[in-house]
Amino acid sequence: MTITGHGVGYGIGVGPVLRMPESLAEPPDAKLTVAPDIEMERVRRASSKVADTLDRLAATTSGETEDILSASALIAKDPAFLERVSALIQSGKTAERAVFVAMAEYRDTLAKVDGYMAQRASDIDDISARIYAELLGLPAPGVPASNEPFVLVARTLSPADTATLNLDLVQGLITEQGGPTSHTAIIARAHDIPAVVGAAEANRLQDGETVIVRAKIGEIVTDPSPAELDDASREIAERRRLLSAPAAPGVLGDGTKVKLLANLGSLREIAGAREVGAEGVGLFRTEFLFMGTTLPPSVEEQAQAFRTVAEEFPGDRVIVRLLDAGADKPLPYLSLPDEENPALGVRGFRALKANPAVLESQLEAVKRASRHSPADLWVMAPMIADADEAAQFADMARSFGLSHVGVMAEIPSIAVMADQVVQCVDFLSIGTNDLAQYTLAADRLGGEVASYLNPWHPAVLRLIDRLGEAASTAEISLSVCGEAAANALLAPLLVGLGATSLSMAPASIPEVRAALLGYSLDDAREAALRSLQARTAASSRHAALGF
Ligand code: PEP
Ligand code: MG
Repeated sequence: MTITGHGVGYGIGVGPVLRMPESLAEPPDAKLTVAPDIEMERVRRASSKVADTLDRLAATTSGETEDILSASALIAKDPAFLERVSALIQSGKTAERAVFVAMAEYRDTLAKVDGYMAQRASDIDDISARIYAELLGLPAPGVPASNEPFVLVARTLSPADTATLNLDLVQGLITEQGGPTSHTAIIARAHDIPAVVGAAEANRLQDGETVIVRAKIGEIVTDPSPAELDDASREIAERRRLLSAPAAPGVLGDGTKVKLLANLGSLREIAGAREVGAEGVGLFRTEFLFMGTTLPPSVEEQAQAFRTVAEEFPGDRVIVRLLDAGADKPLPYLSLPDEENPALGVRGFRALKANPAVLESQLEAVKRASRHSPADLWVMAPMIADADEAAQFADMARSFGLSHVGVMAEIPSIAVMADQVVQCVDFLSIGTNDLAQYTLAADRLGGEVASYLNPWHPAVLRLIDRLGEAASTAEISLSVCGEAAANALLAPLLVGLGATSLSMAPASIPEVRAALLGYSLDDAREAALRSLQARTAASSRHAALGF
């Protein structure tokens, strides 16, 4: 039998189920029989102890988990929360009941907010359960101990649960609730643990029964046959082999070359890119040179940074993306207008045009760094809308003597006008983060519209297809440097739509390299054609996987 949910990651896990114990039952609404002050003191002691524990757990983790645990610690001792508890106790509720009610109110407020915040709501239940257990003198809820490998099954996992998870033993994660941005999903991605979240039917899974977790297709196989177990072991071994294989150039299964390039946002990231065998830099974000200072960097400072990258990639291309200021990347010292809706305002190339001295300093810096450069320095401008703007930028960059001049395709209009744009530039690089944001009118900074923002949406793919067609007719290079290129399921499709290189955060390169080997160019094109005909992002993804 199979159970389905949202798959997170690409791997496969096999093991016996270890179920998280059910949380404590709801505290009864009993009558308070002691003085409210004494009862409130119990809550203060319990919540401060829970906050300390969460802080301690935060210190043992890093990244987003650490942030969430630190935030949970603050919530546990939040004065507004304690004030509400105190009012409930004064009205005759017990400490246990008052904590339960106050936290439930908080959780319900969060749950009403769509998207990311709603998925944080279950974190509140964990804080509540911890304070409740502390009040009763019971051990804190959490992952049961095990010395054997296991697949953890839970209704939902809290940040504290995942912080105490033994990463050496866990083979897979299954939750009945939660979506792709739930805490479980974040942890699974960060540690490459195969996971299926939001699998409601997983409530039927029993401790000790063997399951196969197929993250890529969001499927859990229960009671697997010996043949299914053999297949799973073979696939696990094969994926391990591919991921640990020496860093080779990117290539499809039929030998078609696809350059795997790195996105870099600082010089510190160079080492990681070299380690995973990046074949150049497809997006060198120059914003970092402009951040944390009160004045723009000098030409020489910028040139020096470009030289440093070029020296690490001899013989390869390094694409310098000019400053993309404005919107989600504000810079106080640039003269940019105060706007109500900055994402649709003066950002990217528009901001550069409004600050010509910065634009010229960047082009001059690329020119200086190009002299005797061991790498091919290419230059591109962000947020170009059409052929006229592409030509404006290309003429300017060429007047500095630069020979590889391109533009980012991240405003839908550039894709609509792609046939004209390719006449003006030497290459295109698709920024799927912004292209999806503007095509689907969904703010990339998240919030309530996060669920609308999905690069699998056929509208986004159709624009990419248009760009691919135009680039191939004009015989210019087409790269994808948005997050979509780092998605090992989507990356082969992008090649099917015409991308000849993919640029991504270095950490994603091994997974994408392995995924490309599973497709011939014909397979990739067929998968892309199926997705283009889909009606929704979800069905486009399904169609690509051959369902
Ligand atoms: C993009 O928009 O996809 C992109 C790569 O640029 P940035 O994320 O820097 O806006
Ligand atoms: Mg962008």
